[in-house]
Amino acid sequence: MMTTKTQTIQSQAELYLMGNYGKRDLALVRGEGIFVWDADGRRYIDCLSGLGVNNLGHCHPRVVEAVKRQVETLIHVSNLYLIEPQVELARLLVEHSPADRVFFCNSGTEAVEAALKCARKYSYCTYGPGRHRILALKNSFHGRTMGALSATGQAKYHEGFQPLIPDVGHVTRGDFAALRDAVDETVCAVILEPVQGEGGVYPCDEAYLRQVRALCDERDIVLIFDEVQCGLGRTGHLFAGDEFGVRPDLICLAKGLAGGVPIGAMLAVEPVAATLTAGSHAATFGGNPLSCAAGVAAFSVTVEENLPQRSKALGAKFRAALDTLRVQFPCIQEVRGRGLMVGVEMDFPVAEILPSLREAGYLCGQAGPQVLRFLPPLIIEEAVLFEVLGRLEAILAKREN
Ligand code: PLP
Repeated sequence: MMTTKTQTIQSQAELYLMGNYGKRDLALVRGEGIFVWDADGRRYIDCLSGLGVNNLGHCHPRVVEAVKRQVETLIHVSNLYLIEPQVELARLLVEHSPADRVFFCNSGTEAVEAALKCARKYSYCTYGPGRHRILALKNSFHGRTMGALSATGQAKYHEGFQPLIPDVGHVTRGDFAALRDAVDETVCAVILEPVQGEGGVYPCDEAYLRQVRALCDERDIVLIFDEVQCGLGRTGHLFAGDEFGVRPDLICLAKGLAGGVPIGAMLAVEPVAATLTAGSHAATFGGNPLSCAAGVAAFSVTVEENLPQRSKALGAKFRAALDTLRVQFPCIQEVRGRGLMVGVEMDFPVAEILPSLREAGYLCGQAGPQVLRFLPPLIIEEAVLFEVLGRLEAILAKREN
């Protein structure tokens, strides 16, 4: 039998790559808008946006143009020097967010590390040593480096990597009394995702977030929103916290910030920002000309085309339609989310239906074993979203028979 291109790539991957991503049998080689193509020419609709990254779809012309221009001009210089696109992206972020200053890095986990360090430093500078405890939520996900991993509230990610960093505690999302009881004079920061992503798509409710903000104000605790997955328009607002009218002290961004080029950012309000003084924190590639040029283009498109609003409107319709499907299929336990960050909790492992969706040409994902996750590009057309829905309906109907 003839070996396909995909099989060739797969066998090479199995020879040379670490096994940490498990077995993969789909090689994507090209993308345009909501579409991606595999190595053997088959087309798919990307309903997961490269795990919440390709908010503008694949190879958005404005991002491509900016990257081309920058790559021919200057790729890297380091933060020993001023970098014009870095300053420009920081200006855009500050103008559109509650923050006063920006630190750039390369990924979500690095943005979280920066936030944890910044919070500790603020507390140290203001109150001296001993006030360094960090509170996070159970079921959260903040990344894979040791600080972010320690803040992550899911034991399955910790296994084999202990000891984690000390003085990190976890409380249940939505249980304000538990948080209040956990706060003592040693706590310097609270970190949370306004909408938990990897944990299964669970939005925090407004009243809870307001209470958390008030408590942090009362105790001068740094409130960190990890918006790596839920930020930048995904939930229907440019910053997820905007929906709740709650202003965090630090915001972590990454994923969609540069239209697919690796980047991370930690946004901070004063006076917290001022505590990361010269030499206290850094990243060689952070705010590199290439990623920031892409970031300026991607962020500008997001704002100019009002993609958060589009995400809000389309997401509401999509979730309402999924809720209707729930009446027909009791295996759908719950439909959750905000904007185009959608989780559909099933009463069976969604790994059972993901291959059928893929076979039908739709790349979807999961958030935990029983939650089907949709993070489509924010530019997706309504008709296509409903096509996905139709396919899901057909697959569920078949599964029942
Ligand atoms: N924080 C949140 C909320 C995430 O969803 C993720 C990744 O999924 C991260 C942090 C880590 O981001 P990265 O994989 O870019 O390090």
